[in-house]
Amino acid sequence: MGINNTLTIKILVFMFAGFFLGLLVRALLSFGIDISYFLDNVLVIGGDVFLALFQMLVVPMVFVAIVCGICSFERSHAISKMGLKSLFLFIITTTVAILLAIIAAGIFNVGSEMQLETVNKMPLSYMPSLWQFIHDVVPSNPIKAMAESNMLQIISFSVLFGIGINISGEHGKKIAAFFYDLNAVGVKYITLLMYLAPYGVFCLMAVLAASHGFKLIIEMLEYFVAVLLALFLHAAFTFSMMLYFSKLSPKVFFHKIYSTMLFAFGLSSSNASIPISLDAVEHQLGVSKRVASFVIPFGTSINKNGTAIMQSIATLFIANAYHINISLMGYVILFLMIVFISLGTVGAPGVGLVTLIVVLKQLGLPIEGMALVIGIDRLLDMVRTAVNVTGNAMVACLVGQSEKQLNHEVYHKIEASISTI
Ligand code: ASP
Repeated sequence: MGINNTLTIKILVFMFAGFFLGLLVRALLSFGIDISYFLDNVLVIGGDVFLALFQMLVVPMVFVAIVCGICSFERSHAISKMGLKSLFLFIITTTVAILLAIIAAGIFNVGSEMQLETVNKMPLSYMPSLWQFIHDVVPSNPIKAMAESNMLQIISFSVLFGIGINISGEHGKKIAAFFYDLNAVGVKYITLLMYLAPYGVFCLMAVLAASHGFKLIIEMLEYFVAVLLALFLHAAFTFSMMLYFSKLSPKVFFHKIYSTMLFAFGLSSSNASIPISLDAVEHQLGVSKRVASFVIPFGTSINKNGTAIMQSIATLFIANAYHINISLMGYVILFLMIVFISLGTVGAPGVGLVTLIVVLKQLGLPIEGMALVIGIDRLLDMVRTAVNVTGNAMVACLVGQSEKQLNHEVYHKIEASISTI
C-alpha cells in the first residue's frame, strides 16, 4: 500500500475546501451567527484527533527507527575508512542544508505576519543552557523519559541501546531483526495515517482559516516557496559545488541521476528508491559495486538533506507564527536535533512530519503549529525525497572518487544530447 497521486490531489482539494469552510465560518461569526458549537466540537476536535494520531507514533517510532539506524552502522561497517568518509560528507551536506534553510526562512520571514496563540500553557520559550542540555541528555529512567516524551533522552537511550545490540553478536542480530520488523510496521501506520490526512487537514485548515482569514494562505505559500527554493538551491548549488571540487562534472551527474530523482519524487520514499538509485550510481555514474552498495543504503538510513531543510524551515515558521523567539542556543539545539533525528527518519512518505514533532517538542514549540505545515507537506515530501536521494548518490560519487573506485570512462560517457549542452 503506497501513497499515490490521487491521494496527493485529494489532500490538496480537502485543504482548500477546509480553507473556504473556515472563511465561511469566519464570515458567519462576524455577522453574529453563532456557529462556534460546530467550530469547537467538530472541526477543532477533528483536527486535534488527527494530530494526536501523529503524536501517538512519535515516541515508539523514534526509538525503533534510531535503533535501526544504529544497527545499520554494524551492517555497513561504518567504522571503515569508507564509512567515516561518508559520515563526514553526510554531516557537511546536512550542515549546509540547515544553514541554507535558516537563510531562506529569514529571507521570507516565514510566519512572522501571523499572531497565533497557543492553548498550550507550557513555558514555550524555555531554552536550557549548554550545561543543562548536556546534563539532561542522559536519562536515569528511559521508561520515564518515554512517558514524558523527553526526546533528547529517548534519542540518547536509543543510540546506546542500538550500540548494545551491535556488540551483542548473535543475540543482538535477533533483536535487530525484530526492530527492523517493528520499523516496517511503523511505516505502514504512517501510510495509513496519510489516507486519513485529507479529513484531518480539512479540519485543521478550517479552524486556522476561521481565525486568520486570507492571511493564512499567503503565509503558507511563503513557507512553501521558501522550502522549495532552499531544496532547489541545495541540490543545484551545494551538490554541484561538491562534485565540481572533486573534479566531477555536475552536468553529467544531474543528467544521469535525473530519472532516479523523478522516481523518488513520484514515490516519496528514499527506501523504495534504493534499487534504482544503486543502478544509476553503479551503471551510469561508474561507482564500483563495493562503494555503491555501501553508501546508498547507509545514506538512506542516516542522511536526509531534503528533510532537514523542511524541518528547519517548518520549525522557524511555527516559532514565528506563535511569536516565540529562538535564542542562539535554540538554533544549536535545532541543528543537533535535526542531525540526530535523521537517524530516526525512515525513508518513507510522511515520516519527516512525525520526526518534526520531535524537534518542536524539544524546542518547546506548540505541536498545534503542525496544522500550518501538514496540508502542503505532500508536495514538499515529493521534492525533498528527490533531494534526499540525490544527496546520497552525490556522496557515493565523491567517496568512489576518493577511494579510486569510480570509473571515469563510465561517468563521462554521455549521449550526444548532453555533449552539445
Ligand atoms: N519521504 C522522505 C524520504 O523518503 C522522508 C520524509 O522527509 O518524510 O526520504
